Amino acid sequence: MGDSGKLTKAEVPRETKCESDARGATEATATPGETCPACGARGKAVGTVTMKAMLAIPLTEVRSGAYRFCRTPGCPVVYYSADTEQTFLEQDIRERVHNKHPEGEDVLVCYCLKRSPESIRGEIARTGRTTVASEINAAIRAGQCACDIRNPQGTCCLANVRAVVERLSGHLASQRPQRAL
Ligand SMILES: [Zn+2]
Repeated sequence: MGDSGKLTKAEVPRETKCESDARGATEATATPGETCPACGARGKAVGTVTMKAMLAIPLTEVRSGAYRFCRTPGCPVVYYSADTEQTFLEQDIRERVHNKHPEGEDVLVCYCLKRSPESIRGEIARTGRTTVASEINAAIRAGQCACDIRNPQGTCCLANVRAVVERLSGHLASQRPQRAL
């Protein structure tokens, strides 16, 4: 088609920074009633660029119009059209989705730096702490993050990472024997 040049231009991700978070949150509350057809939870607006980057199926399936991301653990739906007529399941996605398996040890939580709960747990076990949050912040400052095309939720992973660190730090602290002085 003659407009392929225009399409390519529109698809170039212009923003790869975590500022996209704030905008996504605003969009998610802007239109009431757009809930996941499987679990009924309010989904978060997700950009088409994120969906196109994440889908493992032919993108001819993607229709014009808004899509949302369902973050409910265990719910099979990852993306759904705002009219709820179309759903994409985790099997249609190129990555396993942290939000669906928040305690999945080998499911990435930071997709840009490829960190999983397992790798964070190992770091805490080795060193007594984890620097994952500051590593992510440094990567954001260095322009190395691309949450909108790497993370299925399309936004920065830091809140998820902090939740994992909190959970693992609590577990390990309660398991760690008292150190003899
Ligand atoms: Zn759902």
